[in-house]
Amino acid sequence: MATAQIHLCYPSTMQERETLEVDVLIVGGGPAGLSAAYHLRQLNQDISIAVLEKGKEVGAHIISGAVMDPRGISELMPDWKEKGAPIEKRVEEDHVLYLTKARKFGLPIVPPPLQNHGNYIISLNKFVRWFGKQVEEAAVDIFAGFSGADLIIKNDWLAGVRTGDKGIDKHGGKKGNFEPGIDVRAKITILAEGARGSLTKQLVKRFKLDEGRNPQVYAVGVKEVWDVPNQKNTGGRVIHTMGWPLRNEEFGGGFIYNMANGRVSIGFVVGLDYLDPCLDPHQRFQQFKTHPYISSILDGGKLYSYGAKTIPEGGYWAQPQYYVMAD
Ligand SMILES: Cc1cc2nc3c(=O)[nH]c(=O)nc-3n(C[C@H](O)[C@H](O)[C@H](O)COP(=O)(O)OP(=O)(O)OC[C@H]3O[C@@H](n4cnc5c(N)ncnc54)[C@H](O)[C@@H]3O)c2cc1C
Repeated sequence: MATAQIHLCYPSTMQERETLEVDVLIVGGGPAGLSAAYHLRQLNQDISIAVLEKGKEVGAHIISGAVMDPRGISELMPDWKEKGAPIEKRVEEDHVLYLTKARKFGLPIVPPPLQNHGNYIISLNKFVRWFGKQVEEAAVDIFAGFSGADLIIKNDWLAGVRTGDKGIDKHGGKKGNFEPGIDVRAKITILAEGARGSLTKQLVKRFKLDEGRNPQVYAVGVKEVWDVPNQKNTGGRVIHTMGWPLRNEEFGGGFIYNMANGRVSIGFVVGLDYLDPCLDPHQRFQQFKTHPYISSILDGGKLYSYGAKTIPEGGYWAQPQYYVMAD
Protein backbone atom coordinates (compact mmCIF):
# COMPACT_ATOMS: atom_id res chain seq x y z
CA MET A 1 0.00 0.00 0.00
CA ALA A 2 1.43 3.39 -0.96
CA THR A 3 1.57 5.96 1.82
CA ALA A 4 2.02 9.70 1.67
CA GLN A 5 5.67 10.82 1.75
CA ILE A 6 6.92 14.15 3.03
CA HIS A 7 9.78 15.91 1.21
CA LEU A 8 11.36 19.19 2.24
CA CYS A 9 11.42 21.72 -0.54
CA TYR A 10 12.93 25.20 -0.82
CA PRO A 11 10.69 27.21 -3.11
CA SER A 12 11.57 30.65 -4.38
CA THR A 13 9.46 32.39 -1.70
CA MET A 14 11.12 33.52 1.52
CA GLN A 15 9.29 30.86 3.48
CA GLU A 16 10.62 27.32 3.68
CA ARG A 17 7.75 24.87 3.33
CA GLU A 18 7.38 21.16 3.55
CA THR A 19 5.78 19.42 0.62
CA LEU A 20 3.59 16.38 0.86
CA GLU A 21 3.03 14.47 -2.35
CA VAL A 22 0.00 12.24 -2.75
CA ASP A 23 -1.94 10.76 -5.63
CA VAL A 24 -5.31 12.08 -4.52
CA LEU A 25 -5.95 14.92 -2.10
CA ILE A 26 -9.41 15.50 -0.66
CA VAL A 27 -10.08 18.81 1.10
CA GLY A 28 -12.82 18.44 3.73
CA GLY A 29 -13.54 15.49 6.01
CA GLY A 30 -17.34 15.75 6.00
CA PRO A 31 -19.74 13.12 4.61
CA ALA A 32 -18.79 13.95 1.00
CA GLY A 33 -14.99 13.96 1.43
CA LEU A 34 -14.96 10.80 3.55
CA SER A 35 -17.27 8.98 1.11
CA ALA A 36 -14.99 9.95 -1.78
CA ALA A 37 -11.93 8.68 0.10
CA TYR A 38 -13.60 5.40 1.10
CA HIS A 39 -14.96 4.69 -2.38
CA LEU A 40 -11.67 5.53 -4.05
CA ARG A 41 -9.82 3.17 -1.72
CA GLN A 42 -12.29 0.39 -2.60
CA LEU A 43 -11.57 1.02 -6.29
CA ASN A 44 -7.81 1.21 -5.94
CA GLN A 45 -5.60 -0.23 -3.18
CA ASP A 46 -2.33 1.17 -4.50
CA ILE A 47 -2.72 4.93 -4.64
CA SER A 48 -2.00 7.32 -1.77
CA ILE A 49 -5.05 9.27 -0.59
CA ALA A 50 -4.99 12.13 1.90
CA VAL A 51 -7.86 14.05 3.48
CA LEU A 52 -7.37 17.54 4.97
CA GLU A 53 -9.88 18.49 7.66
CA LYS A 54 -9.74 21.94 9.23
CA GLY A 55 -11.58 20.86 12.40
CA LYS A 56 -9.25 19.73 15.18
CA GLU A 57 -10.67 16.26 14.60
CA VAL A 58 -13.01 14.73 12.03
CA GLY A 59 -16.59 15.73 12.98
CA ALA A 60 -15.54 18.76 15.05
CA HIS A 61 -17.21 21.14 12.57
CA ILE A 62 -20.28 19.01 11.90
CA ILE A 63 -23.50 19.96 13.72
CA SER A 64 -25.41 17.14 15.32
CA GLY A 65 -28.95 15.92 14.52
CA ALA A 66 -30.02 14.87 11.04
CA VAL A 67 -32.36 12.45 9.33
CA MET A 68 -30.38 10.05 7.16
CA ASP A 69 -31.69 8.25 4.12
CA PRO A 70 -29.62 5.03 4.39
CA ARG A 71 -29.42 4.34 0.65
CA GLY A 72 -26.09 6.14 0.18
CA ILE A 73 -24.22 4.51 3.05
CA SER A 74 -25.75 1.10 2.21
CA GLU A 75 -24.33 1.28 -1.31
CA LEU A 76 -20.97 2.48 -0.09
CA MET A 77 -20.61 0.13 2.88
CA PRO A 78 -23.27 -2.62 2.86
CA ASP A 79 -22.26 -3.77 6.40
CA TRP A 80 -22.39 -0.28 7.96
CA LYS A 81 -24.68 -1.46 10.79
CA GLU A 82 -22.45 -4.45 11.65
CA LYS A 83 -19.50 -2.05 11.70
CA GLY A 84 -21.20 -0.16 14.54
CA ALA A 85 -22.44 2.98 12.78
CA PRO A 86 -23.99 5.17 15.49
CA ILE A 87 -27.73 5.62 15.06
CA GLU A 88 -29.98 7.56 17.42
CA LYS A 89 -33.41 6.29 16.37
CA ARG A 90 -35.29 4.75 13.47
CA VAL A 91 -37.93 7.21 12.22
CA GLU A 92 -41.32 6.10 13.55
CA GLU A 93 -43.46 9.25 13.22
CA ASP A 94 -43.48 11.98 10.59
CA HIS A 95 -45.38 15.23 11.20
CA VAL A 96 -45.68 18.36 9.10
CA LEU A 97 -47.24 21.25 10.99
CA TYR A 98 -48.43 24.67 9.91
CA LEU A 99 -47.86 27.11 12.79
CA THR A 100 -49.62 30.32 13.66
CA LYS A 101 -48.36 32.37 16.60
CA ALA A 102 -50.35 30.32 19.12
CA ARG A 103 -51.68 27.26 17.29
CA LYS A 104 -50.58 24.32 15.16
CA PHE A 105 -52.35 22.52 12.33
CA GLY A 106 -51.14 19.09 11.20
CA LEU A 107 -51.09 18.54 7.43
CA PRO A 108 -53.36 15.58 6.57
CA ILE A 109 -50.66 14.13 4.31
CA VAL A 110 -46.86 14.34 4.53
CA PRO A 111 -45.46 15.70 1.23
CA PRO A 112 -43.10 13.11 -0.39
CA PRO A 113 -39.83 15.05 0.17
CA LEU A 114 -40.62 15.14 3.89
CA GLN A 115 -41.56 11.44 4.19
CA ASN A 116 -38.92 9.75 6.29
CA HIS A 117 -40.27 6.23 6.62
CA GLY A 118 -37.27 3.83 6.61
CA ASN A 119 -34.84 6.63 7.45
CA TYR A 120 -32.76 7.07 10.60
CA ILE A 121 -32.23 9.92 13.00
CA ILE A 122 -28.51 10.28 13.57
CA SER A 123 -26.09 12.61 15.21
CA LEU A 124 -24.22 13.65 12.06
CA ASN A 125 -21.33 14.60 14.31
CA LYS A 126 -21.06 11.08 15.84
CA PHE A 127 -21.70 9.46 12.47
CA VAL A 128 -18.93 11.39 10.75
CA ARG A 129 -16.48 10.63 13.59
CA TRP A 130 -17.25 6.92 13.21
CA PHE A 131 -17.00 7.16 9.42
CA GLY A 132 -13.62 8.90 9.73
CA LYS A 133 -12.31 5.88 11.67
CA GLN A 134 -13.52 3.49 8.93
CA VAL A 135 -11.78 5.64 6.34
CA GLU A 136 -8.52 5.64 8.32
CA GLU A 137 -8.75 1.87 8.73
CA ALA A 138 -9.01 1.70 4.94
CA ALA A 139 -5.48 3.19 4.82
CA VAL A 140 -6.37 6.77 4.00
CA ASP A 141 -4.29 9.48 5.70
CA ILE A 142 -6.53 12.01 7.45
CA PHE A 143 -4.81 15.23 8.53
CA ALA A 144 -7.15 16.88 11.03
CA GLY A 145 -6.41 20.44 12.15
CA PHE A 146 -5.15 21.40 8.68
CA SER A 147 -7.17 23.82 6.58
CA GLY A 148 -6.70 24.20 2.86
CA ALA A 149 -5.89 27.92 2.61
CA ASP A 150 -4.79 28.41 -1.01
CA LEU A 151 -4.97 26.59 -4.30
CA ILE A 152 -1.71 25.54 -5.92
CA ILE A 153 -2.19 26.20 -9.60
CA LYS A 154 0.44 24.99 -12.03
CA ASN A 155 0.10 25.39 -15.80
CA ASP A 156 -3.59 26.19 -15.42
CA TRP A 157 -4.18 23.00 -13.53
CA LEU A 158 -5.07 22.44 -9.90
CA ALA A 159 -1.94 20.77 -8.54
CA GLY A 160 -2.86 20.68 -4.84
CA VAL A 161 -3.42 23.08 -1.97
CA ARG A 162 -1.34 24.99 0.54
CA THR A 163 -2.46 24.61 4.15
CA GLY A 164 -2.90 27.61 6.43
CA ASP A 165 0.02 28.95 8.49
CA LYS A 166 -0.34 28.29 12.22
CA GLY A 167 0.68 30.62 15.05
CA ILE A 168 -0.34 33.95 13.47
CA ASP A 169 -1.44 36.81 15.71
CA LYS A 170 -4.46 39.02 15.05
CA HIS A 171 -2.33 41.55 13.14
CA GLY A 172 -1.01 38.86 10.80
CA GLY A 173 2.41 38.70 12.52
CA LYS A 174 4.23 35.49 13.42
CA LYS A 175 3.97 34.27 17.02
CA GLY A 176 6.60 32.16 18.79
CA ASN A 177 4.75 28.97 17.82
CA PHE A 178 4.59 29.95 14.12
CA GLU A 179 4.48 27.01 11.72
CA PRO A 180 4.26 27.63 7.98
CA GLY A 181 1.58 25.78 6.06
CA ILE A 182 2.64 22.86 3.90
CA ASP A 183 2.18 22.39 0.18
CA VAL A 184 0.16 19.26 -0.48
CA ARG A 185 0.66 18.35 -4.11
CA ALA A 186 -1.59 15.83 -5.78
CA LYS A 187 -2.33 14.36 -9.20
CA ILE A 188 -6.02 14.85 -8.46
CA THR A 189 -7.47 17.29 -5.91
CA ILE A 190 -11.08 16.94 -4.79
CA LEU A 191 -12.67 19.88 -2.98
CA ALA A 192 -15.32 18.64 -0.54
CA GLU A 193 -15.55 21.70 1.69
CA GLY A 194 -19.35 21.77 1.98
CA ALA A 195 -21.46 24.81 1.11
CA ARG A 196 -19.60 28.05 0.20
CA GLY A 197 -16.14 26.51 0.57
CA SER A 198 -13.36 29.11 0.48
CA LEU A 199 -11.15 27.18 -1.97
CA THR A 200 -14.16 26.16 -4.05
CA LYS A 201 -15.13 29.82 -4.44
CA GLN A 202 -11.58 30.63 -5.65
CA LEU A 203 -11.63 27.72 -8.09
CA VAL A 204 -15.10 28.48 -9.47
CA LYS A 205 -14.06 32.11 -10.06
CA ARG A 206 -10.69 31.33 -11.61
CA PHE A 207 -11.93 28.67 -14.04
CA LYS A 208 -15.39 30.27 -14.56
CA LEU A 209 -17.01 27.01 -13.55
CA ASP A 210 -20.36 28.73 -13.00
CA GLU A 211 -20.51 30.26 -16.49
CA GLY A 212 -23.95 29.73 -18.02
CA ARG A 213 -25.36 28.37 -14.73
CA ASN A 214 -27.94 30.01 -12.51
CA PRO A 215 -26.47 31.94 -9.59
CA GLN A 216 -26.41 29.88 -6.41
CA VAL A 217 -28.89 30.86 -3.69
CA TYR A 218 -28.64 29.87 -0.05
CA ALA A 219 -30.63 29.31 3.10
CA VAL A 220 -29.14 29.39 6.57
CA GLY A 221 -29.96 26.71 9.15
CA VAL A 222 -29.64 27.66 12.82
CA LYS A 223 -29.54 24.58 14.95
CA GLU A 224 -29.42 23.51 18.61
CA VAL A 225 -29.27 20.24 20.50
CA TRP A 226 -31.13 20.07 23.81
CA ASP A 227 -31.07 17.61 26.69
CA VAL A 228 -34.69 17.12 27.75
CA PRO A 229 -34.70 14.50 30.55
CA ASN A 230 -38.48 14.51 31.12
CA GLN A 231 -39.46 14.43 27.46
CA LYS A 232 -42.94 12.93 26.96
CA ASN A 233 -42.38 11.56 23.44
CA THR A 234 -39.10 9.66 23.23
CA GLY A 235 -39.85 7.72 20.02
CA GLY A 236 -38.33 8.24 16.60
CA ARG A 237 -40.34 11.39 15.93
CA VAL A 238 -39.61 13.82 13.12
CA ILE A 239 -41.44 17.15 12.98
CA HIS A 240 -41.19 19.76 10.21
CA THR A 241 -42.97 23.09 10.48
CA MET A 242 -44.08 25.84 8.12
CA GLY A 243 -45.55 29.26 8.78
CA TRP A 244 -44.91 31.31 11.93
CA PRO A 245 -42.58 33.04 12.71
CA LEU A 246 -41.96 33.53 8.97
CA ARG A 247 -44.31 35.56 6.84
CA ASN A 248 -45.94 34.34 3.61
CA GLU A 249 -43.28 35.78 1.32
CA GLU A 250 -40.40 34.23 3.32
CA PHE A 251 -39.06 30.75 2.64
CA GLY A 252 -38.11 28.33 5.42
CA GLY A 253 -39.35 26.39 8.41
CA GLY A 254 -38.44 24.48 11.53
CA PHE A 255 -37.44 20.92 12.35
CA ILE A 256 -37.38 18.86 15.53
CA TYR A 257 -35.90 15.37 15.68
CA ASN A 258 -35.84 13.11 18.72
CA MET A 259 -32.41 11.65 19.38
CA ALA A 260 -31.37 8.98 21.91
CA ASN A 261 -31.28 9.52 25.71
CA GLY A 262 -33.76 12.41 25.80
CA ARG A 263 -31.80 14.55 23.36
CA VAL A 264 -33.67 16.74 20.87
CA SER A 265 -32.26 18.31 17.73
CA ILE A 266 -34.12 21.49 16.85
CA GLY A 267 -33.46 24.03 14.14
CA PHE A 268 -34.84 26.67 11.86
CA VAL A 269 -34.02 27.28 8.20
CA VAL A 270 -34.49 30.67 6.51
CA GLY A 271 -34.00 31.33 2.78
CA LEU A 272 -31.45 34.13 2.39
CA ASP A 273 -33.43 35.78 -0.41
CA TYR A 274 -35.66 37.57 2.11
CA LEU A 275 -36.53 41.17 1.26
CA ASP A 276 -36.83 42.60 4.78
CA PRO A 277 -33.36 43.83 5.79
CA CYS A 278 -34.38 43.58 9.46
CA LEU A 279 -35.06 39.83 9.28
CA ASP A 280 -32.62 38.01 11.54
CA PRO A 281 -32.69 34.19 11.10
CA HIS A 282 -31.21 33.58 14.55
CA GLN A 283 -33.83 35.83 16.16
CA ARG A 284 -36.62 34.00 14.23
CA PHE A 285 -35.30 30.71 15.57
CA GLN A 286 -35.44 32.05 19.14
CA GLN A 287 -39.02 33.20 18.46
CA PHE A 288 -39.89 29.76 17.02
CA LYS A 289 -38.88 28.15 20.31
CA THR A 290 -41.40 30.32 22.19
CA HIS A 291 -44.37 28.82 20.33
CA PRO A 292 -46.54 27.04 22.94
CA TYR A 293 -46.21 23.65 21.23
CA ILE A 294 -42.47 23.94 20.50
CA SER A 295 -41.66 25.19 24.00
CA SER A 296 -43.64 22.26 25.47
CA ILE A 297 -41.22 19.88 23.69
CA LEU A 298 -38.19 21.61 25.21
CA ASP A 299 -39.80 22.05 28.63
CA GLY A 300 -37.39 21.36 31.50
CA GLY A 301 -34.52 20.87 29.06
CA LYS A 302 -31.09 22.43 28.75
CA LEU A 303 -29.16 23.64 25.72
CA TYR A 304 -26.32 21.23 24.92
CA SER A 305 -24.78 22.60 21.69
CA TYR A 306 -25.53 25.00 18.85
CA GLY A 307 -24.35 26.14 15.46
CA ALA A 308 -25.41 27.47 12.09
CA LYS A 309 -24.60 26.61 8.52
CA THR A 310 -25.61 27.50 4.98
CA ILE A 311 -27.61 25.20 2.72
CA PRO A 312 -27.39 25.58 -1.09
CA GLU A 313 -30.92 25.90 -2.45
CA GLY A 314 -30.26 26.70 -6.13
CA GLY A 315 -30.86 23.12 -7.30
CA TYR A 316 -29.60 21.40 -10.42
CA TRP A 317 -29.27 24.48 -12.66
CA ALA A 318 -27.12 26.33 -10.13
CA GLN A 319 -24.50 23.59 -9.84
CA PRO A 320 -21.09 24.66 -11.18
CA GLN A 321 -19.11 22.43 -13.52
CA TYR A 322 -17.61 19.81 -11.23
CA TYR A 323 -14.16 19.42 -12.78
CA VAL A 324 -11.23 21.24 -14.32
CA MET A 325 -9.32 19.40 -17.02
CA ALA A 326 -5.63 19.85 -17.79
CA ASP A 327 -4.99 21.00 -21.38
C1 LIG B 1 -29.40 23.11 9.61
C2 LIG B 1 -29.11 21.96 8.69
C3 LIG B 1 -29.85 20.78 8.81
C4 LIG B 1 -29.58 19.70 7.97
N1 LIG B 1 -30.31 18.55 8.13
C5 LIG B 1 -30.05 17.49 7.34
C6 LIG B 1 -30.76 16.27 7.51
O1 LIG B 1 -31.61 16.14 8.39
N2 LIG B 1 -30.47 15.23 6.69
C7 LIG B 1 -29.51 15.35 5.70
O2 LIG B 1 -29.28 14.37 4.97
N3 LIG B 1 -28.82 16.49 5.50
C8 LIG B 1 -29.09 17.56 6.30
N4 LIG B 1 -28.39 18.73 6.11
C9 LIG B 1 -27.42 18.80 5.01
C10 LIG B 1 -26.12 18.09 5.36
O3 LIG B 1 -25.63 18.63 6.58
C11 LIG B 1 -25.14 18.31 4.22
O4 LIG B 1 -25.70 17.85 3.01
C12 LIG B 1 -23.84 17.55 4.45
O5 LIG B 1 -23.27 17.88 5.69
C13 LIG B 1 -22.88 17.91 3.31
O6 LIG B 1 -21.69 17.19 3.49
P1 LIG B 1 -20.32 17.75 2.93
O7 LIG B 1 -19.28 16.75 3.27
O8 LIG B 1 -20.50 18.15 1.50
O9 LIG B 1 -20.07 19.12 3.70
P2 LIG B 1 -19.92 19.43 5.25
O10 LIG B 1 -20.77 18.53 6.07
O11 LIG B 1 -20.09 20.89 5.38
O12 LIG B 1 -18.40 19.04 5.55
C14 LIG B 1 -17.35 19.79 5.04
C15 LIG B 1 -16.11 19.50 5.88
O13 LIG B 1 -15.00 20.12 5.26
C16 LIG B 1 -14.26 20.85 6.22
N5 LIG B 1 -13.67 21.97 5.48
C17 LIG B 1 -14.30 22.98 4.85
N6 LIG B 1 -13.43 23.78 4.23
C18 LIG B 1 -12.21 23.27 4.47
C19 LIG B 1 -10.90 23.66 4.09
N7 LIG B 1 -10.65 24.74 3.30
N8 LIG B 1 -9.85 22.91 4.52
C20 LIG B 1 -10.06 21.79 5.30
N9 LIG B 1 -11.28 21.38 5.69
C21 LIG B 1 -12.34 22.11 5.27
C22 LIG B 1 -15.28 21.27 7.28
O14 LIG B 1 -14.65 21.50 8.53
C23 LIG B 1 -16.21 20.06 7.30
O15 LIG B 1 -15.77 19.07 8.21
C24 LIG B 1 -28.60 19.81 6.96
C25 LIG B 1 -27.86 21.00 6.84
C26 LIG B 1 -28.10 22.05 7.70
C27 LIG B 1 -27.27 23.30 7.58
